[in-house]
Amino acid sequence: MADAPLAIGIDIGGTKVAGGVVDAHGAVLRRARRDTPHRSTSPRVVENTIVSVVEELLGAGDDIAAVGIGAAGFVAADRATVVFAPHLSWRNEPLRAALGERLDVPIFVDNDANAAVWAEYRFGAGRGESHLVMVNLGTGIGGGIVLDGHVIRGRFGIAGEFGHMQVVPDGIRCECGNRGCWEQYASGNALVREARSLMSAGSPVVSDLFDRVGGHPEDLTGPLVTEAARDGDPLARELLGEIGRWLGIGIADLAAALDPGTFVIGGGVSAAGELLLGPAREAFRRQLTGRGYRPEARIVAAELGNEAGLVGAADLARTDALGA
Ligand SMILES: [Zn+2]
Repeated sequence: MADAPLAIGIDIGGTKVAGGVVDAHGAVLRRARRDTPHRSTSPRVVENTIVSVVEELLGAGDDIAAVGIGAAGFVAADRATVVFAPHLSWRNEPLRAALGERLDVPIFVDNDANAAVWAEYRFGAGRGESHLVMVNLGTGIGGGIVLDGHVIRGRFGIAGEFGHMQVVPDGIRCECGNRGCWEQYASGNALVREARSLMSAGSPVVSDLFDRVGGHPEDLTGPLVTEAARDGDPLARELLGEIGRWLGIGIADLAAALDPGTFVIGGGVSAAGELLLGPAREAFRRQLTGRGYRPEARIVAAELGNEAGLVGAADLARTDALGA
């Protein structure tokens, strides 16, 4: 393993391209990073940014087997085409072909959550687990699936979009156009929305959060709620507990469909740790189909944080390049 070739991982976010040279143990040896102009940016601009980050990393002279790219959005099962990226202006963008013309190294494109679940499977909270489902709680919900040691991408590359499973018929409207989507109840946005609505209603229970933002509900963020909960604010704990309960309910549905041994919870909200995961486990046990007559999956926090996408994209690319 020590002599296994290195790979470059690239994580494309809404506002930045982060890259790293990753070894066979998941360690990031070098890093590079560029900002990208936000939204409605031409595909060419983002492409140029990726090339510039990869060229900087290649410039260090390492022996690089492949470049793996993790992008937020729908990536076709051919791992070459970004079908739709909500934060970029990519629609059926042939990213691998475009980059292949400019970079002389094998390139693989993946959805960022697929990359993240692979990283947790290989090097993080899912080590030693063959069947793993990752649920990322950020502004929405992202998901990734590893079953029997393989990333499950689906026939069209779009598996793992758990955030838009309907958990409440006729529930809260979602930006996808439907109602009652899971991410409207279990995400950073849901946490902030609930806290703000109590603030706007002038509820007396919200005084701690109110003080933390100097009376400006619009300044409230998920991390501030988590901080208040850690400091013991009962309301912030209750709000996180509610997110946790919705998390557990959706996870029970995923267990019914996929039966993994471990659920890894990542994303910003997972920083709340047991304040989130405790209520999630309780709700999961209450809701699980066949409860009492089947083994229960573990529900644990992700270990690799923000670098999971980059590390996983690199490792998936290396695995595929060596296997090809
Ligand atoms: Zn939705």
